[in-house]
Amino acid sequence: MAARVCTICGFHYASPEDSAEHLALHKRFLRATRALGYVPQDGPAQEAAKQAAWPVVRDAARPLEERVAAAEAILRAQFDRSLRNTIFNGGPRDWQRHPSFEGYVAQALWRGTSFPPEVEEILLEKYGTAPSALRGTYWTPARHVA
Ligand SMILES: [Zn+2]
Repeated sequence: MAARVCTICGFHYASPEDSAEHLALHKRFLRATRALGYVPQDGPAQEAAKQAAWPVVRDAARPLEERVAAAEAILRAQFDRSLRNTIFNGGPRDWQRHPSFEGYVAQALWRGTSFPPEVEEILLEKYGTAPSALRGTYWTPARHVA
């Protein structure tokens, strides 16, 4: 039997025994994305977006606004991966505290990015910085905040 992938939540399962786990995660994904009004891209879409955007970000011959838009596409893919990870692997309500895209970018900029300085400068003007709760590119919930 070929591995199947749920087209809604992206769950991979190889045998019918995975159904209970899938159902729980599927319901969690639907509840979160309905409440957020936003559906993060799945893994393959995230990878495709990043692969298309990196050469544009690095191409100094292109208009700066185009390179900044490509950097935002990369950040969007990272944000989507972080949000999906929080929905699926975080506590049941952690996704409610995941930063917005704008907040996520401000945290990424606080840590520093690997974008060229002229691109990062525009992002800093647009998003500012915020103390980062990112570990790598993943947001991590602080569980002990009063
Ligand atoms: Zn599903």
